[in-house]
Amino acid sequence: MKDDFGREINYLRLSVTERCNLRCRYCMPEEGICKKSHEEMLTEDEMMMAVEAAASLGVHKLRITGGEPLIKKNILSICRRASAVEGIREVCITTNGTLLPELAPALREAGVQRVNISLDTLDPAKYARITRVGRLEQALAGLEAALSAGFEKVKINCVLIGGFNDDEIPALADLTRMYPVDMRFIELMPMSGNQEFGPEAFIPCSCVLERLPELEAGSRHDGVAQLYKLSGARGNVGLISPVSAHFCGECNRLRLTADGHLKPCLHSAEEYALKGLDFAGMRRQIQTAILAKPAMHRPLSVRSRSLTGRAMNRIGG
Ligand code: SAM
Ligand code: SF4
Repeated sequence: MKDDFGREINYLRLSVTERCNLRCRYCMPEEGICKKSHEEMLTEDEMMMAVEAAASLGVHKLRITGGEPLIKKNILSICRRASAVEGIREVCITTNGTLLPELAPALREAGVQRVNISLDTLDPAKYARITRVGRLEQALAGLEAALSAGFEKVKINCVLIGGFNDDEIPALADLTRMYPVDMRFIELMPMSGNQEFGPEAFIPCSCVLERLPELEAGSRHDGVAQLYKLSGARGNVGLISPVSAHFCGECNRLRLTADGHLKPCLHSAEEYALKGLDFAGMRRQIQTAILAKPAMHRPLSVRSRSLTGRAMNRIGG
């Protein structure tokens, strides 16, 4: 279905949980989330009904996200059922990777085609600092497991943080020579919950091009990523610039939170509740949300933070 600005909305990001086994400083508070009652969250059946309703309106790509989707006990059943929904052509997952050593083959069997793994540093001490509780070796084991499980594509997402990982841009980009992966650098988005990051932390993707002048521009975009390549590399380097060059004009997505709220725009507080609705009600609500997509969100900066009203783990990124 097209929105009011002629954009074809064919991509749903489904958050299956707000909880996470990490506590990344730019994403969520140290103490985690305030416990919500089970009844407030979407059940697996409600999630599937929402996916079916979205697919009936032209959504064909589904990304399962969170919080950390792989801590969800019924994650394999969710993936299996979602990939069987008529009209859904692609099921992808975004994960911190730490549970992939146990789950990668089963996810592949459950119909997941593509996996994005979040990895902001290759330094164990820095990984522990940015995630507050994580161990780098688990995430790297997850990357290896994903590569062995035969997914159609494995991508690595790295949030660029000035003074934290800008010195690692060449080493991180070099992963595209070592492995058949795409390495995507993403600008840190100023959310209400990440005020500990000052202006120096928000660096544009152009820093990657300054650090790596040998990157060759590709002719293709991959969704919202501008693609580049290192010579001899097996995968691309992607630059995703939601802050320095927002891509609202090409936005084709809707987000569904784990507590059942549709967000027409990541950076707006406007939400449409699906919890408790039947198929027809969900379908109508999805249409309403699509038609409520704004032309663009306001420019983001340290002084003009996202108006979303939720921490990122409660949206899904
Ligand atoms: N837990 C999974 C993970 O980390 O991949 C999925 C959920 S996480 C919220 C989805 C993506 O959002 C991750 O790649 C994460 O790095 C990104 N993210 C979280 N907060 C962000 C922020 N403030 N700016 C840019 N990206 C952010
Ligand atoms: Fe968890 Fe992902 Fe947020 Fe990190 S970015 S705290 S792994 S949800």
